[in-house]
Amino acid sequence: MNQTSDKPRPTPRAGIMDIEAYVPGKSAAPAGVAKVYKLSSNENPLGPSPKAIEAAREVAGKLDVYPDGTARRLREAIAEVHGLNAQNIVCSNGSDEILGLLAQTYLAPGDEAIFTEHAFMVYKIYIQSAGATPVVVEETDERADIDAMLAAVTPRTKIVFLANPNNPTGTYVPFQEVRRLHAGLPKHVLLVLDAAYAEYVRRNDYEAGIELVGGAENVVMTRTFSKIGLGGARIGWMYGPMHIVDAINRVRGPFNVNATAIEAGIAAIRDRAHVERSVAHNETWLAWLSKEMTGLGLRVTPSVGNFLLIHFPDDQKHSAAAADDYLTAHGYILRRVSGYGFPNALRMTVGTEEANRGVVAALTTFLRT
Ligand SMILES: *Cc1c(COP(=O)(O)O)cnc(C)c1O
Repeated sequence: MNQTSDKPRPTPRAGIMDIEAYVPGKSAAPAGVAKVYKLSSNENPLGPSPKAIEAAREVAGKLDVYPDGTARRLREAIAEVHGLNAQNIVCSNGSDEILGLLAQTYLAPGDEAIFTEHAFMVYKIYIQSAGATPVVVEETDERADIDAMLAAVTPRTKIVFLANPNNPTGTYVPFQEVRRLHAGLPKHVLLVLDAAYAEYVRRNDYEAGIELVGGAENVVMTRTFSKIGLGGARIGWMYGPMHIVDAINRVRGPFNVNATAIEAGIAAIRDRAHVERSVAHNETWLAWLSKEMTGLGLRVTPSVGNFLLIHFPDDQKHSAAAADDYLTAHGYILRRVSGYGFPNALRMTVGTEEANRGVVAALTTFLRT
């Protein structure tokens, strides 16, 4: 398309055309591959809860009716399961939407928002969309460095985004460190704890953010149903203090969560057995994959999520790009992460037993040749 034109035409606000559009993980393999294993988007290998499928089928016959704009029943189901107050929850079209709404509501041109070197990429997009300035802080050992984050705060800082655990590294910040980050921030700076993978974390020193939100006026926690089986339904939510909930409710679309998402979400979150099965599967296979990859001589970043960051050797023949080509040709779709500052690594979602064993077998052959 013609990008430069002298003819008058609408132009986006300053900064919009500097945004690099988000590139999702691939989902297709070349023609002729017998079976495709999509391990590029951190979806649940066990699929959606069967109860969510049933609920989505049931709502299909009533799609002429607008959904409840406040998603009250979904908020109540979330509140019940997590022991929260439903009033302090806002649901959204994926947690991406909530992250965007927070940026749109609390950032203006000239403001700064902080995130770390290898953090989830959408923060930057939303900060730039709001006309504000992204401030990238270096990590230590592929993990958010709290001291470095605090050192980056200036009088212009309005938001600090912390993905905990982070994607694509899978590393996490222990609760005491998150507390220290919060304690060091001025009271007018909003701390956004993005806990997209909280369900999967099995660590005593981890806390998704509920406790911190409860005792502060400047912290929110964002969550998603996507990584636990409902990526296609687009359901996210935020838990935060009333004044932030009130502001977000003014800015969000009036029916931002659709009827299918509401019903599937309610059924999914009540199906604790499916969540437990998914988490147990992940625990087993994340450990297995880490051990196997290490055995192949590949370094893996220690992950507490449902995915693994795999680093490849420096020789061209066995680079991440070469491995990606090889795996894709065999039907295994992993995620390139050059855009996240890892030009020689691939992110792999923990898959089914068949997928996991298949990737290890394929990499074994790839590394031998
Ligand atoms: C996947 C992901 C999200 C957003 O997921 P949605 O599908 O929009 O709910 C947010 N943060 C991180 C770190 C993620 O990996």
